[in-house]
Amino acid sequence: MSRRILLLDAGHNASFHGHPLTRGKRSPEIPPGFYEGDWNREVCDLVVKMSGNDPNIVFLNPGPIGKSLWARRLDVNRLYNLEPGCVLLSVHANASGNTLEWRKSTGTTAFIKNSPWKRSRINLESENFANELLSIMCNSTGLRNRGVKRANLAMTRVECPSVLLETLFMDNLADIKTPPESVAGAILEAWREFCNE
Ligand SMILES: [Zn+2]
Repeated sequence: MSRRILLLDAGHNASFHGHPLTRGKRSPEIPPGFYEGDWNREVCDLVVKMSGNDPNIVFLNPGPIGKSLWARRLDVNRLYNLEPGCVLLSVHANASGNTLEWRKSTGTTAFIKNSPWKRSRINLESENFANELLSIMCNSTGLRNRGVKRANLAMTRVECPSVLLETLFMDNLADIKTPPESVAGAILEAWREFCNE
């Protein structure tokens, strides 16, 4: 296997001088909540930092300009065709309602592609990485493990192994107290476990 490269994609990440460029995607109240894009970007930034700027961990969209999902997918596929060891992780935060009020849903979900070729290398690797992410993250943060789900989202339909991680619920008051460092540390640990498999 060629070298493993983690491609980090921060969902709804674009913001300019504190102005989020994606509508919605925020906690009911700020403070104590957060904008999803800021959280996603912070987690990705921390993964890179905590890795000691590992050249095989690449943050694709640090901002401030946002690229469309379509453009990001094309970029991911292009990178994968250059380096077949690429794996994509798209970082998000979930919401169970319209984010106008705090809700009860809690925990972490990992989405992978819903493909008819479930035993293909790409699918097995996506599933392995998703399982590592959930078990390590839920262990270290105490967030509820909501399991691996299959869905054809823009960022799970790329050509390379891919996981879209809904780290926590931005409309749950307990979830948002999770420190971003613990989420980033768990992502890094899960990535290293995955690479050693
Ligand atoms: Zn999102």
